Amino acid sequence: MNRETLEVDVLIVGAGPAGLSAALRLAQIQKAKGGDPLSIAVIEKAPEAGRHQLSGALLDPSTLTELVPDYASKGAPLGTPVDNDNIYFLTQESKFRLPITPPPFQNHGNHIISLSQFTKWLASQVEAEGIDVFWGFPGQHVLYDRPPDVYENPPRIIGVRTGDRGLNKEGKPKGAFEPGADIHAKVTIFADGVRGHLTKELYRDLQIGLGAEPAQYAIGIKELWDVPKGRLKPGTVIHTLGYPLREEEFGGSWLYAMGDGRISIGLVVGLEYHDPLFDPHAAFQHFKRHPFIRGILDGGQIVRYGAKAVPEGGWNTQPQLFLDGALIVGDAANFVNSTRLKGIHLAMRSGMLAAESAFDAVRGGDTSASVLKSYKTRVDTSAIKTELYPMRNVHQAFGHGLIAGSAYAGIAMFTNGRLLPDLGGHPGHREMRMIESYYGLAKRDILVPSNAAPIDRKLTFDKVTGAHYSGTHHDEDQPVHLLVHTEVCHTICGSEYGHPCVKFCPANVYEMVDDGMGGRRLQINASNCVHCKTCDIMDPYGVITWVAPEGGEGPSYDGM
Ligand code: SF4
Repeated sequence: MNRETLEVDVLIVGAGPAGLSAALRLAQIQKAKGGDPLSIAVIEKAPEAGRHQLSGALLDPSTLTELVPDYASKGAPLGTPVDNDNIYFLTQESKFRLPITPPPFQNHGNHIISLSQFTKWLASQVEAEGIDVFWGFPGQHVLYDRPPDVYENPPRIIGVRTGDRGLNKEGKPKGAFEPGADIHAKVTIFADGVRGHLTKELYRDLQIGLGAEPAQYAIGIKELWDVPKGRLKPGTVIHTLGYPLREEEFGGSWLYAMGDGRISIGLVVGLEYHDPLFDPHAAFQHFKRHPFIRGILDGGQIVRYGAKAVPEGGWNTQPQLFLDGALIVGDAANFVNSTRLKGIHLAMRSGMLAAESAFDAVRGGDTSASVLKSYKTRVDTSAIKTELYPMRNVHQAFGHGLIAGSAYAGIAMFTNGRLLPDLGGHPGHREMRMIESYYGLAKRDILVPSNAAPIDRKLTFDKVTGAHYSGTHHDEDQPVHLLVHTEVCHTICGSEYGHPCVKFCPANVYEMVDDGMGGRRLQINASNCVHCKTCDIMDPYGVITWVAPEGGEGPSYDGM
């Protein structure tokens, strides 16, 4: 097959906050230092800026202030400044307000934003600098200069192959077939987000997770609602702990009043829960039925829906950040502060720091790992480490139970992590345990979640309706972008785990249906997928791989 080959100095994979900040910083350095301009390209799977960007989202503007000091006059959409913080512990029927708001939950100076709009604005700043962003072009594979052999002769990363277009569901060319291009770069910056599927290739091929604690994830499920104006003062921030999560489930909720009656509401659940029949989406429905939350949403209308995995492991789970010809930034490098529920500013900062190292390396004519290592040095002397290192064990501590976790978190917060030893990983992570004990075994083929919630289509919604409100779209006649070894589902998964994919997927992609022969078969409704990556993380046998669908497809998170 003849593929087009493009050559650039720096290729950035992913146009979220990390990738766009890297691009903008490169343009700034180039302007400041002069000389021959670097060729820079950004590729992104979404069809336009912000369409695949989902977050709570509270923005800590500290990095933005450095990247674009005149952001206000440039029209940055900073939404609603936080006016008041509230944190509650919920029981099934009641709520208790915590008398003090712990420091990580204090949000004065931060802004309730739409990440999708913010990303759109950031992209406009990048494009105004003359940098090409190729929308609707997902990276499909990492390109190496020789076959990966991490132990004997690690290869150099020379770029990325973008996805083919115009294949039918059998993988054969349709009328308008276009093979993906090979984009060769001196430095490739991987900003492909949480559980990035290209970064995952680097984990597999180059063992970049060796020496780090295994990554930890949560799933965040979010809705936007329009409620009667005046219900909540704009700028109100509410976080809750407790119900509907049980002691063995780690997580909490948020509720942010954006102004004009619009509310961002969501639930985050750590993906180390042990009950294979637990359903995070059902837990979110229970949360909305709590009298306190119902009272806020009553009379309102759902506007949008979405879900996304969140890297929660923190500082000790960062992979090797620099390789021959490559750097890793943002959520792909697990730069999220789970105690603050914030990562946008860390993603942006890591992008800026990677840009500085990439620029120096390209200009110096040496983009080997030994030179690109300067990125790690920059991270280690930056606000990223100042913020993440003290909290490096907090998520892990919750693996020892709510009481131990809360005590550890409290001491870490008030001593800035100085008095506490490293815990060496989360005991609930599946790579740290025997696979059988990751989930407790269901032992029966059970399709109903253990926490099933009533659906009334006013306050609570089923997953198919949720997928509709995510605006997701995939052409049915294309190769399925969820690579599943279905024989495992049809043989042992039902009897051992009760088909957890049916429960953990927030968009009803996985369904067990009648096979017409008295049994059941797995039906994959790939067109519902909202690209949250949970299945890639959570299936108990490691037999689901998420890959990018045809460029431009997926959710449409306008306003999210
Ligand atoms: Fe998320 Fe996987 Fe379901 Fe897609 S198929 S919505 S990535 S869990």
